Amino acid sequence: MSAILKHRLSNFVGGEWISAKAREVLPVPNPATEEILAEVPLSTESDVDTAVEAARKAFAKWEEMPVTERVRILFRFRERLVEQIDSLARTVTEENGKTLSESKAEIWRGIEVVEFAAGMPSLMKGEVTPQVSRGVDMEMVRCPVGVVAGITPFNFPVMVPLWMIPLALAAGNTFILKPSERTPLSAVRLMELAAEAGVPEGVLNLVHGGKEAVDALLRHPGIEAVSFVGSQPVAEYVYTTGAACGKRVQALSGAKNHHIVHSDAHLESAVRSVAGSAFGCAGQRCMAGSVAVVVEPIADRFVDMLREAADAVRVGNGLEEGTEQGPLIREEHRARVLQRMEQGLAEGAVMVRDGRREMKELARGYFLGPTLLDRVRPEMTVAREELFAPVLSVIRVRDLDEAIRVVNRSRYGNAAVLYTESGKAARKFREEVEAGMLGINVGVPVPSAYYPFSGWKQSFYGDLHANGKDAVEFYTRKKMVTSRWFGGGD
Ligand code: NAD
Repeated sequence: MSAILKHRLSNFVGGEWISAKAREVLPVPNPATEEILAEVPLSTESDVDTAVEAARKAFAKWEEMPVTERVRILFRFRERLVEQIDSLARTVTEENGKTLSESKAEIWRGIEVVEFAAGMPSLMKGEVTPQVSRGVDMEMVRCPVGVVAGITPFNFPVMVPLWMIPLALAAGNTFILKPSERTPLSAVRLMELAAEAGVPEGVLNLVHGGKEAVDALLRHPGIEAVSFVGSQPVAEYVYTTGAACGKRVQALSGAKNHHIVHSDAHLESAVRSVAGSAFGCAGQRCMAGSVAVVVEPIADRFVDMLREAADAVRVGNGLEEGTEQGPLIREEHRARVLQRMEQGLAEGAVMVRDGRREMKELARGYFLGPTLLDRVRPEMTVAREELFAPVLSVIRVRDLDEAIRVVNRSRYGNAAVLYTESGKAARKFREEVEAGMLGINVGVPVPSAYYPFSGWKQSFYGDLHANGKDAVEFYTRKKMVTSRWFGGGD
């Protein structure tokens, strides 16, 4: 039976849907309509204990299962995701607000990770050096780490869990997902599809909740590793707390991504790309461009063209055909964004396109239209802090050198983009910019599943990033065997 049909969501533990012992529940509204979709329980330490026990129990058998058999289950999981993509995308749109095409795109990005993880028989191969000394061989084998916890954000409720689950499982770990309490329904669907694909009971578990559940996961001695994706303060907290409890932790964090528009850029394409990056998914992407750093000779023209592009964006319910931008996730989030915008204006920014227009037009839902602030200076809060909204700040600079200095003063280093037709400028940008994911004429430079998602500075805490070979390293531990055989048969 689907756990969504029950209004109050259940945890998925040891292959069964069970009620959380939670004292508190939160409503889960559709951010476009404010209709309540479900209630999510805020699980307690004892709920986490139950899940860890189930995951530990399942680990022994799952680890023993040949990797070829584990990935066969993943092939079936991939098929279920593909078959169910329309209904899954609808769930994502209903609880997150993004458009149906954005939801499908995120599911496809998640499916790509399942496909990559299906290569685990080759990815987790060890190494051997025979005869390191006379009669002595040395080999390295990779083993799973044990029970892994995944703590995920609201903005990619399918893709981010799929950055973790397929790779952790294929490597032989068991897993506990603690999804965002603001978007728990997609996680429920993922559990159902994984179970239908044949993931054995206890191998993949779901615990709903917030801080209390996270704290219990971080402190639980039965958990070996934690993969986290979310905002900067929480990422730092999860990293330091998890590490202090002896766990390996990867914590992907917030961002403030700059798009430099050079004087020789192909302007029409650059405007399209900057607008798509800033306003797509209502700006609620860690890869969203939120600051355009534009060189003066072209700045007036660029801002005019961008205002036109912002005006053309169709804002509304993501389920409706033709919608290009959905709402923000919650009213409180929108209120915080509005406050930051006001602060920017008070500090001297110039409002070029005011997204409060759509806020007034659309009576229900947490909408904020595309917003463009010009003449922002790097020291302003609106230029420094992540707003996570369709608000783009324009900083005007003299040249590329100054643009790169503006980018590098950010405490974040997730992504940075340069628009140019000059190889020399592109090379300088690649060499000098302090960010982990660069785009050259590409507005959302998300690496494919077989490369690391590699934020720098305060956009990431840890050593090994999500996806690519980093993830294989993160979800395995190495065992070194040095062997020599005495007697018989020389
Ligand atoms: P969030 O930090 O509020 O929540 C993330 C997770 O942490 C959720 O599961 C939540 O329940 C939990 N959590 C929240 N507060 C907590 C606390 N005080 N203690 C312990 N756990 C807590 O993030 P969000 O608003 O859901 O997601 C948006 C943020 O995630 C943005 O900052 C965005 O940049 C970031 N993000 C980063 C990446 C990346 O790859 N770097 C990808 C997606 C999102």
